[in-house]
Amino acid sequence: MKILVPVKRVVDANVKIRVKPDGSGVDIANVKMSMNPFDENALEEALRLREAGTATEVVIVTIGSEKAAETLRAGLAMGADRAIHVKTDAARIEPLAVAKVLKAVIANEAPDLVILGKQAIDDDSNQTGQMLSALLGWPQATFASKIVVGTGTIDVTREVDGGLETLRLALPALVTADLRLNEPRYASLPNVMKAKKKPLDETSPETLGVDIAPRLKVLKTTEPAGRAAGILVASAQELAAKLKQAGVL
Ligand code: AMP
Repeated sequence: MKILVPVKRVVDANVKIRVKPDGSGVDIANVKMSMNPFDENALEEALRLREAGTATEVVIVTIGSEKAAETLRAGLAMGADRAIHVKTDAARIEPLAVAKVLKAVIANEAPDLVILGKQAIDDDSNQTGQMLSALLGWPQATFASKIVVGTGTIDVTREVDGGLETLRLALPALVTADLRLNEPRYASLPNVMKAKKKPLDETSPETLGVDIAPRLKVLKTTEPAGRAAGILVASAQELAAKLKQAGVL
């Protein structure tokens, strides 16, 4: 079984985001960038399936600038076999454009399973996996917390309101990973060195015949309103009195 994992380079989850003074977006100059956390879960799961002998090859793919190659090297250092860089200088690539590019990559690669992150923490779209499954006409299971591979099928447990749901999907299929799926590994130094020699192919949206021009316009970006400082109360009675005073109780 061949697994394809799309990974995105995003602002590191620990960075305090700053909005550009003109409100046109978020300032990412000189900011630490990392692999999207949910994509680490997706890749970890693919690697575990390969280590269990279920998968034979794990291929990672990213669509992004020259610098996105760093994210691919990080994924290769975690253990992916091969990487594909769909290079573009476009400032914004919307989920539908990403899904169309991925569809073209999938046509070339013919994976049995595609595992994406459930959402990218920069745009919080949570759309790419769903759009891609529709474009491919493949079954999908989103927000996966467990994947069990059967014969020609996979059982995916997903977190839904008030509990867990398990779906059986016929392969080829698409899954989006939630944080609870696993604990991603750190790349060891020897693996970081080895990753430099692993194959990393380059292509472009144009070569794949995909138009990635944005269809949406960002009108403005604003910081969330600041919150008033909290206060400490000495007892539950005092808390209740304060809440009453504030009209909450
Ligand atoms: P989103 O729909 O933007 O929240 O992204 C959901 C998932 O799609 C991410 O977790 C990635 O697995 C994948 N994805 C989104 N954008 C890209 C990209 N530029 N390159 C590769 N994968 C991406």
